[in-house]
Amino acid sequence: MGTGFFGKVLWINLTEESFEELLIPEETYRQYLGGYGLAVKLIYETMPARINPLDPESIFGFFPGLLTGTAAPFSGRYMVAGKSPLTGTWGDSNSGGSFGPEIKKCGYDAIIFKGVAKTPKYVLIQEDKKELLEASGIWGLDIIETDFKLKEKHGKFIKTAAIGQAGENLSKISGIANDKGRIAARAGLGAIMGSKNLKALVLKGNNKISIYNRDKFLELVKNYNESRTQEAPNRLIRSILKNVPRLAKTIRRFRIGFAGPPKMIREIYKSFGTSVGNTISAETNDSPIKNWNAIGMYDFPFNKSQNLSAIKIQKYKIREYGCFSCPVQCGGILKVPEINLDETHLPEYETCCSFGALLLNHDLISIFEINDLCNRAAIDTISTGATIAFAIECFENGLLTQEETDGLELTWGNSKAIVELLKKIIDREGIGDILADGSKIAAEKIGKESINYAITSLGSEIAMHNPRVFPSLAFTYNYDPTPGRHTAASIDFIDIGPINKFQKGFRLPKGWKKNEKKKQVGQMLTTCFHQVINSAGLCMFSTLFGSYPFLDLINMLTDWNINVDDLIKIGLRIQTLRQAFTIREGVEVANNNLPGRVTGHPPDKRGPTKGISIEYEEFFKGYCSEMGWNPENGYPLKETLEELNLGFVIKDLY
Ligand code: SF4
Repeated sequence: MGTGFFGKVLWINLTEESFEELLIPEETYRQYLGGYGLAVKLIYETMPARINPLDPESIFGFFPGLLTGTAAPFSGRYMVAGKSPLTGTWGDSNSGGSFGPEIKKCGYDAIIFKGVAKTPKYVLIQEDKKELLEASGIWGLDIIETDFKLKEKHGKFIKTAAIGQAGENLSKISGIANDKGRIAARAGLGAIMGSKNLKALVLKGNNKISIYNRDKFLELVKNYNESRTQEAPNRLIRSILKNVPRLAKTIRRFRIGFAGPPKMIREIYKSFGTSVGNTISAETNDSPIKNWNAIGMYDFPFNKSQNLSAIKIQKYKIREYGCFSCPVQCGGILKVPEINLDETHLPEYETCCSFGALLLNHDLISIFEINDLCNRAAIDTISTGATIAFAIECFENGLLTQEETDGLELTWGNSKAIVELLKKIIDREGIGDILADGSKIAAEKIGKESINYAITSLGSEIAMHNPRVFPSLAFTYNYDPTPGRHTAASIDFIDIGPINKFQKGFRLPKGWKKNEKKKQVGQMLTTCFHQVINSAGLCMFSTLFGSYPFLDLINMLTDWNINVDDLIKIGLRIQTLRQAFTIREGVEVANNNLPGRVTGHPPDKRGPTKGISIEYEEFFKGYCSEMGWNPENGYPLKETLEELNLGFVIKDLY
């Protein structure tokens, strides 16, 4: 066996209450790295096609990346993966914090579940002990209470990943939480865990990852971290940077981009996290406003959006927080005396937007309360906020009456009603039961024209960035095997980084911004590279901070001596198998279409995105050609599958 991985995964059969270690050959790591690359290989091969993701045969697991648990910067992430209960496509979801490295410390490259427990259970893996234990004492608790109880019982050094009430209630927009509020939130994977009667995975290990050339590996880490953290910008620049949110109007007026020198970007992220985008994105119309049906500068203007600004949020910050091995630490812990919250996580941009601009809600304290409730219940803030926007529009148009909303007056910006509705969704109470599986399924229950207000891609609520600002987001929202995500390598969006500077030798075609064909090639390269970044366990923000010794770290960890072309091929293999999984499940990706509100059909008559409509079908065809897929239906071609050692897929697609 090579170095850099343990070469084994743990399978837990909840029906049989059995644990089995499965050895993984080195060749599999060379072809898929780890993380969701390893996940799609193992799940594709072992899970029966077209089953209900909530059935006992459904398989899901926890997959740290290849670099997760090492000292590599930004490498603290793990992925939960399985078939999405929300969309019926391939489903994966990513979380940071400290849980991913603990999987490695337990000596595994993944922990995978099948079957269903007869009664609520949790799994404890502590040193060499593996147990399936009764969860009756923690079932019904939120994830913070669950973590507290489990630590009382098993010691304060354990790490937990758990579902909250949303996952227990099989909400198809529920996630899985670790570190008291980091959530693998998208794709509804918490519902799979709930369907298996599995409350939590509890870990404490002491294994170490073998490193091929430890000295060189640590030197690379040290050099990178020093170059990013020393010589922080001087006080004047720092004070300007800390006022970035106040510059929102100027940024809109002069169409200034967000990219900048790595140290400045680091300072902004360290100070504000992603909430730096709250006011800027509303001003520039990057944020969807009023269920994607209004314009930020007019309908959620600066005097409202600034109430949610990063500067206002920062006043509540009591300490910085970040993921394992991260030199930036973009998270934060807040204290909010107004609602008696002594400690709660800093809300991310996506949460501030989906419960703020999307609902015309500028009550900051309500955003803190909502964020805390969503974290505790482990429910996806993007999907939940968007589902509430859907419900408000149904109410406004008479498709839901006040009697049907259990007395709630669902009007735009009514923060009290929004909080109450959120609680009902978490508990599946009254109207909350209709909304708990997201807006598309709710529209199927409510009927009439309510489907027009469900702004989803294949049932997944669309993330909080406007394709009329970042055009290729429309393409990834519509066609990625995990639809509706802003994290799926849209070339315009990820170029904020910019990804071109991330890895020496990785380059987008010169002039790609002005040439459609070159942009399609660039999208293919970006997509493939993004797969390996994820599968290595790096945070997507790692691309924001300039040059990173990615290849060198992998080679010093494993002794593989691979190059950028090898990485692109690995990424192509992973994305092709994710695509094949989704197609095997019967989802004709190429026939999907985004709601007109998202792509500007009809276009805005005024504001920053005036006159802009996005077309993406031809771009998809060009991208498919570059990927070696059929441009007409998105099916990977037989020769591509053979070339990528994915011959086992051919019988499923042809
Ligand atoms: S940048 Fe933020 S999200 Fe990414 S690893 Fe660091 S702390 Fe975690």
